[in-house]
Amino acid sequence: MAFNRIFNFSAGPSMLPEEVLQIAQKEMLNYNGSGMGVMEMSHRSKVYDEIIVAAQAQMRKVMNIPDNYKVLFLQGGATLQFAMVPMNLMTVNGKADYVVSGSFSKKAAEEAAKYGNVQIAASTKSENFTRVPQQNELKLDPEADYVHICYNNTIYGSVFNYIPETGNVPLVADMSSCIMSEPIDVTKFGVIYAGAQKNVAPAGLTIVIIREDLLERTPKEYTPVMMNYKTLAEKNSMYNTPPCYSIYICKLVMDWLLNMGGLEVMQKRNTEKAALLYDVLDNSKLFKPTVEKQNRSIMNVTFRTDDDELNAKFIKEATARGMSNLKGHRAVGGMRASIYNAVPTEGVRALAEFMKEFEANNK
Ligand SMILES: *Cc1c(COP(=O)(O)O)cnc(C)c1O
Repeated sequence: MAFNRIFNFSAGPSMLPEEVLQIAQKEMLNYNGSGMGVMEMSHRSKVYDEIIVAAQAQMRKVMNIPDNYKVLFLQGGATLQFAMVPMNLMTVNGKADYVVSGSFSKKAAEEAAKYGNVQIAASTKSENFTRVPQQNELKLDPEADYVHICYNNTIYGSVFNYIPETGNVPLVADMSSCIMSEPIDVTKFGVIYAGAQKNVAPAGLTIVIIREDLLERTPKEYTPVMMNYKTLAEKNSMYNTPPCYSIYICKLVMDWLLNMGGLEVMQKRNTEKAALLYDVLDNSKLFKPTVEKQNRSIMNVTFRTDDDELNAKFIKEATARGMSNLKGHRAVGGMRASIYNAVPTEGVRALAEFMKEFEANNK
């Protein structure tokens, strides 16, 4: 690893591929002979247009996004989507089904309730979100305008082990912490959205992938223009200045993903990385995984000991060895290792080894 970089297990913003950062460094002052850096370019210039067009085309390739879906590059984070989704889509029958499987889906439901009738289709809150509701637990309303899920629960470290079957009701998914970690059948979704700062780019960019027919639902009289999916789609995410530099890094990350062999290869790599940690957890008397087996995330691995002081000691000693940001979210406590695409296998292996060593030293 170059320049004493640490193993960074941050939940987001998080590691970017070193190769990408090196290209960005090389091009920082003079992009492709233009005599200026990407941060300094007009978003309406020809040189920048090539970047945003390529970012979108490469993303379509990486995720195998069908032609009847639009890819939008927006701002405001996934959190703004908690409002934009109902503003644009909860407009036919004025009601939507929300599956609550963690903090972010709960927030999404609360935000949506400002715009219409939010029906909680299922929740695992009473079980402290140690698993994700299964299909047979979902109380779905065939008249709902959409069904909303958070596919990977960043804070709790759980993931859907299935794609909910919702009949003709469009499925909307927050995929902030798992987008492009494995292949996903986009056609099963009406909308996929993600803050880019976990797996794709620096903060500032929000990706929205939306099926074209859903663009017709927006009430245009009073929807703010910057929250109107249809306008943003018609203007190719250029109604105003887009997050230019994040989109450029996103483009470099798409190149990187394609060079790596695409999402099948990433899935294999990510599954192997996660298994290094879950194997230690399953064979440990000290550390306990916090999520039921069928819903374990391969992006955010959560675990703890039964002793808060020992948790703190683990985090401190790991940090001293160059493994940072392992403290769990305050809602869960314990530890969380976020092991997104860009976290190298050697970093995860180092953490797994340290866990074993720590257990041996703290019997
Ligand atoms: C990080 C995260 C969010 C919040 O994203 P912002 O871009 O900060 O608004 C929402 N949902 C999930 C699943 C996340 O991981």
